[in-house]
Amino acid sequence: MEILTGIAVCPGVAIAEAVVLNTEDYRIPRRAVPAGEVSAQAEVLSAAITVSIEEIRTQMDLVSHRLGHDAGDVFNWHIGVLQDPQIQRSIENLIRERKYSAAYAVSTIMRNYQRRFMQMSDPLLAERIRDVQDIERRLLRNVLGESREDLEHLSESSIVVAHDLSPTVAVSLGHANVAGVALDVGGSTSHTAILLRALSRPAVIGAKDVSTRVSGGDLVIVDGSGQMIIAHPDEETLEQYRARQQTYTRIERELIQLRDLEPTTQDGVRVELMGNIEFASEAATCVEKGADGIGLYRSEFLFLRAEGPPDEEEQYQAYREAIEGTRGRPVTIRTFDLGADKYTQERQYEQERNPMLGLRSIRYSLQHLDMFKVQLRAILRASVLGEVRLMFPLIMSLMEYRQAKMTLHDAMEDLEEEGLPFNPHIEVGMMLETPAAALQCREFAREVGFVSIGTNDLVQYLLAVDRGNERVSRFYNMTHPAVIRVLRDVIRTCAKAEVACSLCGEMAGQPLYTLLLLGLGLRTFSMAPASIPEVKKLVRLTTLAHAERVARKALTFETERQVSNYLRDMTRKLLPEDPI
Ligand code: PEP
Ligand code: MG
Repeated sequence: MEILTGIAVCPGVAIAEAVVLNTEDYRIPRRAVPAGEVSAQAEVLSAAITVSIEEIRTQMDLVSHRLGHDAGDVFNWHIGVLQDPQIQRSIENLIRERKYSAAYAVSTIMRNYQRRFMQMSDPLLAERIRDVQDIERRLLRNVLGESREDLEHLSESSIVVAHDLSPTVAVSLGHANVAGVALDVGGSTSHTAILLRALSRPAVIGAKDVSTRVSGGDLVIVDGSGQMIIAHPDEETLEQYRARQQTYTRIERELIQLRDLEPTTQDGVRVELMGNIEFASEAATCVEKGADGIGLYRSEFLFLRAEGPPDEEEQYQAYREAIEGTRGRPVTIRTFDLGADKYTQERQYEQERNPMLGLRSIRYSLQHLDMFKVQLRAILRASVLGEVRLMFPLIMSLMEYRQAKMTLHDAMEDLEEEGLPFNPHIEVGMMLETPAAALQCREFAREVGFVSIGTNDLVQYLLAVDRGNERVSRFYNMTHPAVIRVLRDVIRTCAKAEVACSLCGEMAGQPLYTLLLLGLGLRTFSMAPASIPEVKKLVRLTTLAHAERVARKALTFETERQVSNYLRDMTRKLLPEDPI
């Protein structure tokens, strides 16, 4: 039995065989082949090595021709690895002696090889990991050829194990037979984590080297509540987890029955529970889960398509679908939050050194005004189809907000001249996600239509902890006393100014923080639709007076650990069985 720890993304327990994806997101098939196929697999390996070497030679000629011999020499190292008799022998031995498939043998040996480089302290040698990954990818492509299997055709419920998942693949898991997910990298509020949460399958990420430790076909438990991945569990552990799984299934069934009940506390305070969506089609899921509307539509996910950036009409159609899907409830469209871990980096010749502090979000939009205006036109045109609100992300100064609003007015004037209808009174707000905006909340409250607190970013910038980096994830703490105080002040300032205030970071959907946020005065929570029933259950079990007592007490602690322990105790009292 092997136990790996990571960061829980989605609670619950999944037990199934693993499907391991390589870095190009395709499956490495199961381990063993029948005895009669062993020789054929050895031949597949040998042919794949030959083809891979030929490919590299061709590339090397091209590159040397253009950039000189030194650049081409990089490939010599790749050829050297592929020709290394010891490596070839190790792979072949696995095929002949253990009857491994060629692909499985290649991935086992190449991952062992990668691990050797991972342990090297010399940064130049450690850099070789990328080369080894590259060689593995090439060799696997040639071994698997056309037999590459995609996830859509998984016949049995499986646990997907990978180093990382691109958002596109993460989204495709929704239609696949996937019970749970385990990844090497990622932080709890990284965008892949957000997408996985939307799928509501147990997931643990940031587990460092799970993709090299687990092999296709291994039995794996993903404990999304205990933040653990257990490979090759013994009988006793398996029994324990099967029992837990049954409890969760029962709880889930009970939660569905809450759908049509109001999120009102025992002393009569009605809160609003809204959905966060990444794709227009999720609007219907929000309604199914009992959402009061959409509090955050992450429109930048429109860029994650094969066809390139979305034009005005494509955007309009997506916004229309979201508005119609919510059947009369409000829809808050956030303008593109590109940059950082979304889209722009991988398309840049020279990547930013600190992308989280770089040209992202509203800054990117204001530097790409043509793109920004197209989006604003599409949102404005859609604004006549329902109750549409618009918000700008990562606002850091009043100047920035004013500039964004000016661009919006330009777009309005253009539409007016063209005679196209739009709502000139569309509500416009800001996302409050920087410490600067929190400190200037009073000034902002005089100008903005509403405030939506983005704690995923606010926490990262307050604590100076990259939200997507698993190496510092233990410092990414939403219960840090500084975070709670900032939230208290922002919520209070907005209330005084009578400006609507919601919270749409991951915190809003985690029952652990429900009492605290309610007690701090928050009345609008926006979260992954899957989290709505659980939060609603908790709201209905408490009173405002109790939540206020919890918040007051939480504000007296000096350390994040005291705050989390206290909140866990208070939440468990109300939800003794639920995974929190
Ligand atoms: C946030 O930062 O809290 C937020 C909701 O926006 P995103 O997660 O898309 O950055
Ligand atoms: Mg954000």
